[in-house]
Amino acid sequence: MNVFELLVDLHRKNPRQGPGSTEVTQKAIGLTGLEGRKDLSIADIGCGTGGQTLTLAQNLDGHITAVDLFPEFLAELFSRAKNEGVDHRISTLRASMEELPFQSEEFDLIWSEGAIYLMGFEKGIRSWKKYLKPGGIIAVSDIIWLTETRPGDLEEFWMEECPEIDTSEAKLDVLTRQGYIPLGHFVLPEECWIENYYLPLKSSYAGFLERQNHSKSARDLVNQDVEEYEMYLKNKDYYSYGFYIAKKV
Ligand code: SAH
Repeated sequence: MNVFELLVDLHRKNPRQGPGSTEVTQKAIGLTGLEGRKDLSIADIGCGTGGQTLTLAQNLDGHITAVDLFPEFLAELFSRAKNEGVDHRISTLRASMEELPFQSEEFDLIWSEGAIYLMGFEKGIRSWKKYLKPGGIIAVSDIIWLTETRPGDLEEFWMEECPEIDTSEAKLDVLTRQGYIPLGHFVLPEECWIENYYLPLKSSYAGFLERQNHSKSARDLVNQDVEEYEMYLKNKDYYSYGFYIAKKV
């Protein structure tokens, strides 16, 4: 198995693949000003197994195109949507966020939680803008620094993983520079990381290692995640995710 197949196997049965919560998605929905509007056209990019997709389907009227690179995540999302009775509001699409097969000005709302860092925050919001209708809304969460200074080894780790990690002010500057008006932003609370992401992930290690016959690459992946969790616990005052909601000018 290559590293992507291992990642999919480790994360597939989890409700989320990054920090977040239903409450946070609902708060961000509130900031879009789109509640009460009918027939919205929505894209959810890097949707994973659909933690936020289901909340969008339950709180907004319209149709959601849920996009991810991995069909296993999309299948899980769709089966969860069926269980929740919202499958008629969701279509899944296997595509790369860097080559989306969308029409220009197709969407009222582009959503993306914990995924835009994969192509880079600025590149993402710049290249997705054309798919938004005039006055359309983008809502993205991305990793941010909470302080102006931080320990050198922490900085080095995150600069390697997510080179565009920056302060909230810097993210807002990027949005403005790229032709959006920020409507609101907030920092994700600790439970989004611990209770909703790291702890469910931790409980999937045993089954994953068993399925993978305790291969070296599977053990390496688990160790890497354990270290990342420990780093979070030690340094959570320095970084988190920020949620940014902005309107296309
Ligand atoms: N939004 C989900 C998942 C975040 S993890 C949540 O918050 O729980 C990032 C997601 O992006 C994963 O599901 C991963 O499969 C997907 N992904 C990775 N590279 C991608 C790409 N190039 N295009 C689309 N999705 C991608």
